[in-house]
Amino acid sequence: MSSPEGAPQGVIPAQLLKGQKALVTGANSGIGKATAVALGRAGADVVVNYVAGPEEADKVVEEIASFGVRAAAYQADVSDEGQVVAMTDRMVEEFGTIDILVANAGMQRDAAFTEMTLAQWQKVIDVNLTGQFLCAREAAKEFMRRGVVPEVSRAAGKIICMSSVHQIIPWAGHVNYAASKGGVQMMMETLAQELAPKKIRVNAIAPGAIKTPINRSAWETPDAQTDLLKLIPYERIGEPDDIAHVAVGLASDLMDYVVGTTLYVDGGMTLFPGFATGG
Ligand code: NAD
Repeated sequence: MSSPEGAPQGVIPAQLLKGQKALVTGANSGIGKATAVALGRAGADVVVNYVAGPEEADKVVEEIASFGVRAAAYQADVSDEGQVVAMTDRMVEEFGTIDILVANAGMQRDAAFTEMTLAQWQKVIDVNLTGQFLCAREAAKEFMRRGVVPEVSRAAGKIICMSSVHQIIPWAGHVNYAASKGGVQMMMETLAQELAPKKIRVNAIAPGAIKTPINRSAWETPDAQTDLLKLIPYERIGEPDDIAHVAVGLASDLMDYVVGTTLYVDGGMTLFPGFATGG
């Protein structure tokens, strides 16, 4: 599974998340898929959410089940309130509870600002921001209903919001996406503040440039790769496992005191690399 450049899979302790039930949205592709697999490898039972592409979701379920844990694929559009409620209700019924939510589903609909339609703006806000709101709300209700089970985890629940470096780096031609991720940052921090007394840990991961279908044009050709690498001090493009491994750590009690933080997992992209030689 691991790429030659990415971190090796063997680093994940197989019992780290034993007995925990994880829901990963948008888990039949890219970062969500790698995260669902890594959580399963760490011993969690995993629900693989997808909106389209049931065959790919089934393959992810098969891979996770091969680690001896439970896995299932649930179809739901994260921007649809009724479908999110039905998905979380079903998970509680079939898996018993939810311990970990990775609100990962996301999309781009790029356009120059004056060309951007209201539909393009709305769709990205609906999926990237409202989708995370809905999934987090339903997961938090379940965490509060159940409370802390010390044999399972020190926290009543963990929410990981998949944000982006574009929660702080402005991005011309992508105003809907950048605004959605800026919103994710403040939503995450507000939820973290509100839910911490309930022993719910809310955090975010902000990936830099990770090789997935969402940004294929940025890494597909040698010229695009060269341009992209200028933005990354660590001089490699990220792999989905680079994010998945951080998600496993963040979901685990090893990071129990991490509350309301964004972990930038970006090879240094947010270090203003232009200033290494300029300024
Ligand atoms: P991807 O396109 O491979 O995966 C996105 C997933 O979200 C897909 O499975 C897609 O079907 C799903 N999805 C889209 N709309 C949905 C909906 N309405 N309901 C449920 N699922 C839906 O891209 P990725 O790179 O793996 O992106 C995952 C997350 O990581 C996104 O939130 C993205 O913004 C974020 N991210 C990615 C990068 C990167 O460089 N790849 C960088 C920063 C942030």
